Amino acid sequence: MTRFDYLVVGTGLFGSVFAYEMKKAGKKCLVIDKREHLGGNIYTREEKGIQVHQYGAHIFHTSDRRIWDYVNQFAQFNHYINSPVAVYGEELYNLPFNMNTFSKMWSIRTPAQAREIIESQRTQALAELGAEEGSWEPGNLEEQALSLVGRDVYEKLVKGYTEKQWGRDCRELPAFIIKRLPVRFVYDNNYFTDRYQGIPEGGYTQIVEKLLEGTPVRLGISYRQFLKQNEEKGAEADVFDKVLYTGMIDEYFGYCLGELQYRSLRFETELLEGCDNYQGNAVVNYTERQVPYTRIIEHKHFEFGTQPDTVITREYPAEWKKGDEPYYPINDARNNELFARYRELAAKEEKVLFGGRLGQYKYYDMDKVIAAALEMAEKELGQ
Ligand SMILES: Cc1cc2nc3c(=O)[nH]c(=O)nc-3n(C[C@H](O)[C@H](O)[C@H](O)COP(=O)(O)OP(=O)(O)OC[C@H]3O[C@@H](n4cnc5c(N)ncnc54)[C@H](O)[C@@H]3O)c2cc1C
Repeated sequence: MTRFDYLVVGTGLFGSVFAYEMKKAGKKCLVIDKREHLGGNIYTREEKGIQVHQYGAHIFHTSDRRIWDYVNQFAQFNHYINSPVAVYGEELYNLPFNMNTFSKMWSIRTPAQAREIIESQRTQALAELGAEEGSWEPGNLEEQALSLVGRDVYEKLVKGYTEKQWGRDCRELPAFIIKRLPVRFVYDNNYFTDRYQGIPEGGYTQIVEKLLEGTPVRLGISYRQFLKQNEEKGAEADVFDKVLYTGMIDEYFGYCLGELQYRSLRFETELLEGCDNYQGNAVVNYTERQVPYTRIIEHKHFEFGTQPDTVITREYPAEWKKGDEPYYPINDARNNELFARYRELAAKEEKVLFGGRLGQYKYYDMDKVIAAALEMAEKELGQ
């Protein structure tokens, strides 16, 4: 029998940061994961010298100096800046919507010209919708987007992409999905507005390996399987004071109140031998609905790779059903209410903590996950 302070379920960023902080404070953790590798969704693997982001492109960005310093302890970050481009038919545009996008779309040069076109298209759209600005509320996502950016940007860059993402027509989607569509009247293709940004040279997996160095880890075993095996050991069973669970909260409770819903993704990865540069950019979005994937990632460009081959991944949005990989929580009224009820159950579990994107049923960027794990660790340690 071994006594542990914590059983940590999940080797993703949340579980790993928590386990690292606990180890530093002299506590003993055992970490398990049902997958065969460390890192959860930030896992990267090497192929032909290229770091492949197995679960979708991951770009680290934050404005929090403390988190930036923290993550830089475990890897050297490069100066990658996310500047995606969008393909619409034969046309190619810079993202996010900025002066480069507008000058290409309308053959104009100045911010005043761009503002004038957007304003006139918005006004026209609102008139067509019979809306009087001020009192009018958009009835669906299409109306919302038209009222924010006008017809050209909506039809070329928003409509098809959003319809693919959600698997539904924009007129059938609720307006709240798009609260804002930021437009920039400067020539600036940097997607994020955070102060710090980059990709860890050599991939993300090394970060998790370092976080878990010296902590026992068991891979390829689910929480339920682990509990069963441990119980079978009888008097030899390992003992834990507490559990940190970073899996799906509804699964933990056996779906007793019903299932929370997600959007999923399907990744199709291809090694292109002999092709040293397939698309000239790490991220290319395809904004037409007829093209079945939403984007193609060319992994080598995250690290300015010069290898003779390349690896690309086509990303297809997918409906989620039980057993599929849950990527994005659907935080609509039905799911948020259900999650609130699961959270009430969770509050009664005195010896179990719930953390991370699945335990909290929330889309979290990596910096926010680290901050939340540090906060939980500090609370546990009474700091
Ligand atoms: C497609 C995509 C792109 C993203 N891009 C970015 C980006 O560019 N920048 C950014 O900052 N963030 C990005 N994110 C968010 C980032 O992935 C998350 O912040 C982070 O991975 C969350 O870590 P986590 O530990 O909470 O969850 P996870 O990484 O999901 O880890 C949970 C772990 O628990 C394990 N587990 C679950 N249930 C059980 C169980 N019952 N038994 C045993 N093990 C279990 C899982 O196998 C998994 O390894 C992106 C997310 C997605 C989906």
